[in-house]
Amino acid sequence: MPSMKRRALVCAVGVLFVIGVAAAQSQRPAGTSHTGNAFKFNKVAEGVYHAIGTGSLAVVGNSSVLVNDSDVIIVDDHVSPAAAWVLLDEVKSLTNKPVTTVINTHFHFDHAHGNQIFEPGVQIIGHEFTRRMLLGNPTGMPLYQGYLNGMPTQIDTLKKRIAEEKDAAAKTKLQTQLQVTENNYASQKELKPTPPNVTLSTQMTLFRGNREIQIRYLGRGHTAGDVVVLLPKDRIVMTGDFLTSGLSNMSDSYPEEWAASLDALKKLEFDTVMPGHGEAFTDKAKIGYFQAYLRDVWAETSRLKKQGVSAAEAAKTVDMTKHKGNLPIQAPGIPPIAATRIYELLDGGGR
Ligand SMILES: [Zn+2]
Repeated sequence: MPSMKRRALVCAVGVLFVIGVAAAQSQRPAGTSHTGNAFKFNKVAEGVYHAIGTGSLAVVGNSSVLVNDSDVIIVDDHVSPAAAWVLLDEVKSLTNKPVTTVINTHFHFDHAHGNQIFEPGVQIIGHEFTRRMLLGNPTGMPLYQGYLNGMPTQIDTLKKRIAEEKDAAAKTKLQTQLQVTENNYASQKELKPTPPNVTLSTQMTLFRGNREIQIRYLGRGHTAGDVVVLLPKDRIVMTGDFLTSGLSNMSDSYPEEWAASLDALKKLEFDTVMPGHGEAFTDKAKIGYFQAYLRDVWAETSRLKKQGVSAAEAAKTVDMTKHKGNLPIQAPGIPPIAATRIYELLDGGGR
């Protein structure tokens, strides 16, 4: 090959390479840097993985990864564009099949704020209420506001503690926490809440080879639009925050109806629950424990409201310690956001 032509070719390849790298990098959101893997993938069944954060990146909730015959479905996509981007990157260690579908179990920031990183061709499926909430003002919601507004203080506190810490190992740990929080904050600044582009109101079923994937709405509960994802053959249900391994937050919930909607969950045929927070479990008695808690928290908070107690005071007073054998409860009191929500519902409000 004459040298002129060869130089031209080398040059063209070089330009293409630079363009390629630039394009890939421009897609990478802020705040993705982390040390070691950000997720561990617990294999629950063949092609079914529960992705749980390791702590090296802020991800908050769990996602589930379904590796099908020719594609991948992700259930819930974490707290930020950065977290979702890293999830996709690490899913490549499981499979090189393309992610074609995302399912949002509900609209909360720790389950749906990764939506924006997916290509427009990817189907993002959620309840029509989830779409409405993500199209509305999700970043103005109290739960998210509390989360975001706490970050600058957390960052300052961590910096002070790092400066004062004498022990090298403890200092390193704090530095990791600082990096995790700063990265999360940087990613939140790039947040563009993105709603599902496919919605359902009661049920939708996807078929992938031999796998049937049922997306079911079981009534109002954790929010007015939570869905669960049922794999009938594997007898697995992914529950988001409708049922977790502990206490789900109640900021947008309908506690009384939630207890009733959980009866519908009990009727589904499954052995394993992959929750939105905590490890997968098989103990179905947990459903009943949580129902009993919801009914009690509703009754107790209602009673205090009738007595003229303020929501803030009720949050300190409501005593659920009789449930501590079955649920992670240490002392009397419920989160103020839960008391506020119940008061709002009792006053006829609610979204
Ligand atoms: Zn939630």
